[in-house]
Amino acid sequence: MDLDFDREHIWHPYTSMHNPLPVYPVKGASGVYIELDDGGRLIDGMSSWWAAIHGYNHPVLNEAVIRQLKSMGHVMFGGLTHEPAIMLTKRLVELTPETLQKVFFSDSGSVSVEVAIKMALQYHQAAGRPEKHRLLTVRSGYHGDTFVAMSVCDPVTGMHSLFSEVLPQQIFAEAPRCGFHEVCGDECIDDFRRKLESHHPDIAAVILEPIVQGAGGMRFYSPDYLRKARELCDRYGVLLIFDEIATGFGRTGKMFALEHAGIVPDILCVGKALTGGYMTLAATLTTTEVASMISEAEPGVFMHGPTFMANPLACSIAVASIDLLTGRDWWKNVLDIEKGLSSGLEPCRSFEGVTDVRVLGAIGVVELEQPVDMALAQRLFVERGVWVRPFGKLVYLMPPYIITMQELKTLTDAVCDVVSYIA
Ligand SMILES: *Cc1c(COP(=O)(O)O)cnc(C)c1O
Repeated sequence: MDLDFDREHIWHPYTSMHNPLPVYPVKGASGVYIELDDGGRLIDGMSSWWAAIHGYNHPVLNEAVIRQLKSMGHVMFGGLTHEPAIMLTKRLVELTPETLQKVFFSDSGSVSVEVAIKMALQYHQAAGRPEKHRLLTVRSGYHGDTFVAMSVCDPVTGMHSLFSEVLPQQIFAEAPRCGFHEVCGDECIDDFRRKLESHHPDIAAVILEPIVQGAGGMRFYSPDYLRKARELCDRYGVLLIFDEIATGFGRTGKMFALEHAGIVPDILCVGKALTGGYMTLAATLTTTEVASMISEAEPGVFMHGPTFMANPLACSIAVASIDLLTGRDWWKNVLDIEKGLSSGLEPCRSFEGVTDVRVLGAIGVVELEQPVDMALAQRLFVERGVWVRPFGKLVYLMPPYIITMQELKTLTDAVCDVVSYIA
């Protein structure tokens, strides 16, 4: 592989073109293994950023895309429709809370967040409340890299200070402090409540990652917080958007993280694991009420329509991926992974330089005092036959659900080993 050409011409995520960190050439991936060009095999601890929940090169998913390819790769979605989109919509409507009935497809998580926010703004505009156009969120969040999505990412870790002049100024409350198993006391949600109280005439929606804040800090918080947030949103006529792009499809031990809290948002974003990590696809779901309000007022349509909307290949794989998941006791795998991560990462707790070890569902996090030297850590992990990509002070695992306990132990042993070395 021409790595010199890669280094010279290809921008990788969040990298410099002057001093790019090394990239490892991959020639294939199968099951939980990523196969390197030099013959090395790495156990995947990342599920390619939450997405590859069934592992790679899965025969059922392969078959789904091949079958679809034989009839059509893509057609435009304006004025046309197709079976893969209808089948996928049926599954999404069945799988998510009953009130979420209307589905808008887009091509990536960030765009599904843009769409969700646009829906919220258009909803209030349609209702004669155009002044409700701002968003309230909590710190330590991550909602994507496009402009409005960036505006609701954590203002510090979200790295958007560069763009602060052009980003819409949103309202930030303190990040939830109550742990997953704790009750959310009034003081814990006090800042959120006060911000909502004073700004609600301007606020269209609250946007939250339920239960797990992902790329903004890998923090877990109490379902109780979400129940309180729902009540407050109702009291002040503010829509609630849940971004389940990372947490959706079983990662936290529930099909959707909102099930931990037993409440329903007005708008829900899904992506990442939607296609089992095969293709880029996302969806924004909303209620009949929001959809009707938007559709009844001028101009009578929802103002969005991506070129590759509801791509049939991606929809077909998503249908197959959801059927694969619901067709077996996936939560048992996630529960086993949770146990394996808890026992396997436990030793890190006593290491110097480690401030926290936390596990929820198929997510395991080791937080360090100091930021990790990513290039060094990555090399050490590759030497140990695993693929783990830390960021900031966080070393974390979110393996494919098909991982065996033996393979998981190799992953957690490698994390303990590398963390003891670098922390
Ligand atoms: C990854 C992610 C996004 C952005 O999705 P992309 O597909 O990368 O655009 C948004 N929200 C959350 C919670 C995510 O984890």
